[in-house]
Amino acid sequence: MRNETHYLDTRGLDNTRPTYSSAIVTGIAPGGGLYVPEKLPKLLLEEIYALSSWPYWRRAAAIFSLLGVDMDATRIDALMRQAYGAQWDDERIAPVVEVRPDMHVLELWHGPTSAFKDMALQCLPLFFSESIEILQERGLAQDDYLILVATSGDTGKAALEGFADRDHTGIVVFYPADGVSDIQRKQMITQHGENVGVFGVQGNFDDCQSAVKEAFADQEFAAWLHDTHALKLSSANSINWGRLLPQIVYYVSAYADMVASGGVKPGAPMDVCVPTGNFGNILGAYYARLMGVPIGRLICASNENNVLADFIATGLYDISARDFVTTPSPSMDILISSNLERLLYHLAGPEKVREWMGQLASEKRFQIDRETFAALREIFVGDWVSNDDALATVKRIFDETGYLMDPHTAVAWEVAERTRDQNPVLVVSTAHWAKFGTDVFRALRGIAYDAPLPEDSADLTGVEMLARVQALAGDTCACVPKALAELDTAQERFASVVEAGRESVEAAVRSWLAR
Ligand SMILES: *Cc1c(COP(=O)(O)O)cnc(C)c1O
Repeated sequence: MRNETHYLDTRGLDNTRPTYSSAIVTGIAPGGGLYVPEKLPKLLLEEIYALSSWPYWRRAAAIFSLLGVDMDATRIDALMRQAYGAQWDDERIAPVVEVRPDMHVLELWHGPTSAFKDMALQCLPLFFSESIEILQERGLAQDDYLILVATSGDTGKAALEGFADRDHTGIVVFYPADGVSDIQRKQMITQHGENVGVFGVQGNFDDCQSAVKEAFADQEFAAWLHDTHALKLSSANSINWGRLLPQIVYYVSAYADMVASGGVKPGAPMDVCVPTGNFGNILGAYYARLMGVPIGRLICASNENNVLADFIATGLYDISARDFVTTPSPSMDILISSNLERLLYHLAGPEKVREWMGQLASEKRFQIDRETFAALREIFVGDWVSNDDALATVKRIFDETGYLMDPHTAVAWEVAERTRDQNPVLVVSTAHWAKFGTDVFRALRGIAYDAPLPEDSADLTGVEMLARVQALAGDTCACVPKALAELDTAQERFASVVEAGRESVEAAVRSWLAR
């Protein structure tokens, strides 16, 4: 095929140079590195502006083709129409909204699960399933794939929704029985689809995640899956290149929209401010910038788990003495930001990445060299927001503008206000407020993050809580997405909670396969 891009390994250990389709099926390079594109296209400004008159699916298809995805253009078009179709509640898919004349918001939560993970997970499973088909046709693979996910909340639901009824795949999600909100749990256990399974795991997210990791590492289990069910395991997690590529698209698209609406002068730089956890979303903006989109500074916004803000300030990534804090923006509660490895590769190359990732594994810290630090500081700015400041921002911006945002978005908004210079800023909004209704309620009522809820609202279901928020905020600016509003009456399909540990996770998968 013409123009197909090959992928390199950030640690320089895998020299097979896979194409897009095999890179996304393989997921992580043998040796632990991540796949990065060997070359990137350069976009002309005119090409970017032209996107603004196209539907989103066509914007996505154009960028995928330019990035050398090894599939026919007609096939890419068809998959993109499906990925960015009627399941979105706004036909613009990723609209840019002017909240204040000086602040624009890129809303990434109009998909079926009302959070940003849909941007990639409505897309990746279609390409994943297509890639398996291609590899099987070329005789390069025989097995289908079973996706195993340990989730602390949003990813599980978005992955279920994306993989539901996709050919050549099955998906089983494990969530911590003590670690997800009522809404998150109901979103998962009411999931439709013939190829999906959901299990609670007793304990917290760490218990859940280590059990699933051990199942992944169990060679006997892998052999059993292959021999009896012709299945291979995959995780489709946020280091998969197939999750990153769709996240480049919306930055190119947003710049086109900003120019079309007069939010930025043609060709002038726009800064972006991204609420960051695993560094995947902001890395999409970095790639868009490398491809010629006039993005000025990449502003990395963290919550109280502020390892990235410290890293950007000092060049030292240090989790050796850091405790994990809970926050009202749980999808950013992370200590190891896996996708940072890709940025380090582009700034410093594979030898350095190997050295630093080795140090991170053994000493739980690494310090980048002067030259790399200077290169990082030319592009990135970082800051972080306390729990109570994040909730105060939700309230303040609602009072000032009538725009209700979720706590993740509020972290980015606050950092954008603190760090802004003369460039227009695009604040990236990663969740509908209703995904995090309880903390939005706290924000509007002025209740501190760690204070108990008042008695009259302590025992509400998640959905009932959303009605309280609507009553406070007024229905017009606070409509709840239909899929969330109907959760209390949706049919619960997956009631099982299993014990923690590898054996019970594997037993759950076996029983699910025998269903
Ligand atoms: C996943 C997520 C993030 C963090 O995105 P990364 O790509 O991991 O940096 C932020 N906000 C929400 C709501 C998310 O679901």
